[in-house]
Amino acid sequence: MAKVGVYVCHCGSNIGGVIDVEAVRKHAETLPDVTVSRENLFMCSDPGQEIIRRDIRDGLVDKVVVAACTPRTHEPIFRKVLEGEGLNKFFFEMANIRDQDSWVHAHDKEGATAKARKIVDSAIAKARNLMPLEDKYVDVTKAALVIGGGVAGIFAALDLANMGNKVYLVEKDPSIGGVMAQLDKTFPTNDCSACILTPVMVDAGTHPNIELLTYSEIDSVEGYIGNFDVKIRRKQAYVDWAKCTGCGDCADACPVRTPNEYNAGLDNRSAAYIHFPQAVPKKAVVDMNACINCGGRKIGSETRISKKTGKPILAPCERACPAGAIDRSRPADPNGEILDVKVGAIVVATGYKVMEKENFHNLAPDSPNVLTALQLERLISATGPTGGKFLRPSDHEKPKTISFLSCIGSRDHNHHTYCSRVCCMYMIKQAKLLKEKYPDLNIYMHFMDVRTPGKDFDEYYTSAVDMGIRIIRGRVGGIDMLPGDKLKVMGYDGDLAQNIEIEADMVVMATAIELQDDIKPLAQKMSLTLDGSGFFKELHPKLKPVETAVEGIFLAGCCQGPKDIPDTVAQAKGAAAAAAVPLAQGRVKIDPTISEIDRVKCSGCGICEPLCPYGAISMVAENGSHPRARIEMTQCKGCGVCTTACPSTAIVLHGYSENQIMAQIAALTA
Ligand SMILES: Cc1cc2nc3c(=O)[nH]c(=O)nc-3n(C[C@H](O)[C@H](O)[C@H](O)COP(=O)(O)OP(=O)(O)OC[C@H]3O[C@@H](n4cnc5c(N)ncnc54)[C@H](O)[C@@H]3O)c2cc1C
Ligand code: SF4
Ligand code: SF4
Repeated sequence: MAKVGVYVCHCGSNIGGVIDVEAVRKHAETLPDVTVSRENLFMCSDPGQEIIRRDIRDGLVDKVVVAACTPRTHEPIFRKVLEGEGLNKFFFEMANIRDQDSWVHAHDKEGATAKARKIVDSAIAKARNLMPLEDKYVDVTKAALVIGGGVAGIFAALDLANMGNKVYLVEKDPSIGGVMAQLDKTFPTNDCSACILTPVMVDAGTHPNIELLTYSEIDSVEGYIGNFDVKIRRKQAYVDWAKCTGCGDCADACPVRTPNEYNAGLDNRSAAYIHFPQAVPKKAVVDMNACINCGGRKIGSETRISKKTGKPILAPCERACPAGAIDRSRPADPNGEILDVKVGAIVVATGYKVMEKENFHNLAPDSPNVLTALQLERLISATGPTGGKFLRPSDHEKPKTISFLSCIGSRDHNHHTYCSRVCCMYMIKQAKLLKEKYPDLNIYMHFMDVRTPGKDFDEYYTSAVDMGIRIIRGRVGGIDMLPGDKLKVMGYDGDLAQNIEIEADMVVMATAIELQDDIKPLAQKMSLTLDGSGFFKELHPKLKPVETAVEGIFLAGCCQGPKDIPDTVAQAKGAAAAAAVPLAQGRVKIDPTISEIDRVKCSGCGICEPLCPYGAISMVAENGSHPRARIEMTQCKGCGVCTTACPSTAIVLHGYSENQIMAQIAALTA
């Protein structure tokens, strides 16, 4: 006979403020096999845990039910208590009377208390039937994959590599660097972005433990913590990178002009190009979407000889290349090549994009003088399209008046309701940099309100006001294009309590930070979920901020939510430290609440095999017998689909066996 101890928690006022805890405790006392029933303000606190320990030690209890908050965070805590007292830690059942009861029935105390009784009944019924289970372990591959080579990915990769792990750093662009490589200077210290980023890019590019896989994407991710099988697609560069020296002669020779992504579309690049001057690795690629196959030199075409000169007819890019890195007669698979790697942990650091100005029809997006803030970064950067000269795109004249608009697409029910967090600060930065260089420039900044909560941020804002930058509290409702390349900015001034109009030569919009459109398939490949704002969802916002619902996969940087560089780097280091834990341990625990097949009962019908969403079941013949189902324990996630489908009841899901579930149903329906 089981000796079930029931412990009902008040969870401060979370549960106790709604549910009559004492009534639930008293009710539990009356149930079969319940030997003790107690309550406490915080069962998870040390005194709370001590109550359970004492009862186990005194021999009063051998199965434990805690009626409290969520097993998501607290089940491991209580299982440890059992383990510490020498009990099998799976002799524990949690009744969630907070998330599923007091929180959802906060205005119905009686109903909530009645429901809590039922939930506790059901947990006790299961606890009476619990069977001992043992953790299983598998070896870990001591290597990590970092997806995304922005500042987050670079720091995560470097930390993991410095701890002695092999790291594959996968970046979809030809170079690492991400958005930070496009920035001019960075708040709050205004140090030059390239000066602080390029040395770490070089470190990552030359680190003996880091294999840099740029111009690459993730094709598939299979497996589980400790043993992920990843297929990486190296995109076709149409340039032999082993020979390319990064001289850029091919780019100079290529006649094509197509929008330059690095300069946020403010100028053009060639079809054969190098991502940016400080690229790591500094290698050329040929963009086949833009390439016009000069002289009919399609990839893989036979080299014709000129009748006139007797020399081979080559495209400008291949003719210009002194290293012989471009050979258009060589066939090349447009799909690139697939690389198989095995890793124990994965850090996702795929960053973000800013909304394009075209989304905001009322703000004159067709005017070349209306820019996104990222475009302004490029315009004032020494490596930008004007070499850092602040010139109006339409006529290359120096602007006299500039208006900055905040929260474009952020905190807006038509687009994103969240705050993009960094815009207030980077707009103040841009305004300050311009005012320092051009004291005569009139600068207006239209803010809903200024958000500067970081270290030294408010002083940064105050110094901008002291410089004569005009702060206007209120939104801008529209922009009209005026003759002479001028812009009429129509807004509201909350301090004057009136509508205002400003004639500007240039407008800069802080457009919202959002996840890239093509990220959903990547999330699906890894079974990761996105949150309500569309960013990757962390396992717990406070306690597991870098973990995900998939064990062994971690998040870093803006892919988890908008943040500035200091927060991005801090999170990247946190993600690297968390990812390093299983790699350092050398083996990982597999939860034993997974399915197992009784091969004697199994008829080999094969119904379960295609149903398993994780491909964990295969039909295997052993010792010449008829093939029967077998479950790969490392792949099984314990979803239980197979157990419900098996006509021979040959599959048991440990921790959720038929008699345990039937006992729960009986208790709930009694
Ligand atoms: C206009 C502007 C100015 C800013 N100024 C400042 C400032 O002054 N100070 C400050 O602290 N912060 C500033 N920020 C914020 C800063 O840009 C971010 O904090 C930082 O870039 C976040 O880095 P990240 O690595 O998370 O993302 P990203 O920089 O976006 O890097 C992500 C990387 O992942 C790659 N990637 C994406 N998808 C895939 C995929 N599927 N496979 C492989 N690779 C992929 C991308 O190509 C990219 O290289 C500014 C932001 C903006 C928009
Ligand atoms: S063939 Fe070479 S030179 Fe011609 S467009 Fe393509 S990349 Fe440029
Ligand atoms: S010309 Fe040749 S070596 Fe120079 S960047 Fe282009 S491909 Fe590389």
